[in-house]
Amino acid sequence: VQDVDGGKKINYKQLESKLVDLVGRQYVLSDDVDLALYECDGDTIDSVRPDLVVLPGSIEEVQAVVKLANEYKVPFTPRGAGTGLSGGCTTVVGGISLVLTRMNKVLEVDATNLCAMVEVGATNVSITKAASKHNLHFAPDPSSQIASTIGGNIAENAGGPHTLKYGLTTNHVLGLTVVMPDGEIMTLGGKARPSFGLDLIGILVGSEGTLGVVCQAIVRLTSDPKLIETMLAYFPSLELGGKAISEIIAHGVVPAAMEMMDNLTLNAVEDANNLGLNRQAGAFVIIELDGSSAGIEAQKQVVVDFVQKNQSISIEWAKDAAHRQKIWKARKAALGSLGRISPHGYVLDGVIPRSKLAEAIERINEICTRYELVVSNIYHAGDGNMHPCLLFNRSNEKQVEAVLKAGKEILEACVELGGTLSGEHGIGIEKLMEMPFLFSQDDLNYMLKLKDVFNPDNLCNPSKVVPTPKSCGESGIRPLARFQIAESQ
Ligand SMILES: Cc1cc2nc3c(=O)[nH]c(=O)nc-3n(C[C@H](O)[C@H](O)[C@H](O)COP(=O)(O)OP(=O)(O)OC[C@H]3O[C@@H](n4cnc5c(N)ncnc54)[C@H](O)[C@@H]3O)c2cc1C
Repeated sequence: VQDVDGGKKINYKQLESKLVDLVGRQYVLSDDVDLALYECDGDTIDSVRPDLVVLPGSIEEVQAVVKLANEYKVPFTPRGAGTGLSGGCTTVVGGISLVLTRMNKVLEVDATNLCAMVEVGATNVSITKAASKHNLHFAPDPSSQIASTIGGNIAENAGGPHTLKYGLTTNHVLGLTVVMPDGEIMTLGGKARPSFGLDLIGILVGSEGTLGVVCQAIVRLTSDPKLIETMLAYFPSLELGGKAISEIIAHGVVPAAMEMMDNLTLNAVEDANNLGLNRQAGAFVIIELDGSSAGIEAQKQVVVDFVQKNQSISIEWAKDAAHRQKIWKARKAALGSLGRISPHGYVLDGVIPRSKLAEAIERINEICTRYELVVSNIYHAGDGNMHPCLLFNRSNEKQVEAVLKAGKEILEACVELGGTLSGEHGIGIEKLMEMPFLFSQDDLNYMLKLKDVFNPDNLCNPSKVVPTPKSCGESGIRPLARFQIAESQ
């Protein structure tokens, strides 16, 4: 029997045995070592061990678990692969971590209607793999796509390098089957997304698991482009790379992707992957064009002109698919490769207007120097989505404090520059206290009312996304360094 949420007693032993009856012994975890694996996502600063981990294998089992959690008044937090970067699936008030990864099948690829029906534990890349024989793919391509689930992508409204041209996950969801927080099943949309009535799919996508547990989805498939041209260019500095990117877009060319990373990151990638990158360059930039051959030729010329005008060191066009994959590997391996130089990294997700890129880089450098932090810069530069990654060691309390303070200042700077708090990683627990930078109390109250309609007992992923008036002192939240430091300021 444990004491959670302001003194209520919950008989976890009894709950565990009922969960075992529902899903089977091997799919209910309560051993401390097992629970430790589910204590956080990629945001390792915010870590809280769940009381139980449950891995259901079907919609019916999800429904039964949610109904039981309601009976015991135990919070439950949906979880996919746990690659999130804002603490979204961290069980900050304890309770059940509801892991959807066993439900991982691509159930149907409908090439005629350009869609696929999937269970939510399917990885992002498995959808493209299943669709590839029809020359189709799932366009949102987070760099975590080999691991992250479509359920997590839907909950976070995930993006990726090709978001610049093809849009975020929300633009590619046609239908959803959801176990609502009270255990009822709701089916929305289908092979065509309704364009009338209140857009419930739009509300659920990006709601970070706070409005229900998505179990199945019908997603849009996109035809593979006839022609792809991928350029790797090196620049002396991030500022010059950023300037080239801004000028290409200002000229009216919207490539499929424009990505950038700094010298520190490219050296970490090279150390880990041995791809033959130019270790001396100040910035590594990928620009990808796709479409028909006539259009691409004209766009290529514009891209080359602006890249050269901004003092590029060298330009390399992918000669074939294998070469293209190698170029992309450098970018997609970037975050993972940082493990070579630091045990932990705090990845920020601010967005700024593209024209403010140089100013933002300067502000980030100034903040990190002041807090004596090493920063790796990785950008979806085409759409102004910046991922400065502050490197630290979690066992060094002073560094954790510095990282949290610097992170807050960087997000404030993004908002001041006319940008926003998140491009794709969501709010979770990580940016909860920064929400008032952007939203008035009236805005936040409407969000809380909406949450209340879907999730009136606040059992489904509580204490995420929208701060309550009690904010970090919210009842039941277990001690998090983030809030303790905020309170002491
Ligand atoms: C190396 C690396 C690179 C990354 N690159 C990108 C990138 O390019 N673009 C990008 O957008 N993100 C990126 N991310 C962040 C992360 O991969 C995405 O947010 C991804 O969508 C999370 O999916 P997941 O399955 O891991 O979800 P989790 O981390 O398990 O959960 C994320 C959120 O979704 C909710 N959730 C999960 N499944 C469900 C469900 N079935 N129903 C309801 N709610 C659910 C959880 O409660 C939580 O709030 C990256 C992360 C890493 C580690």
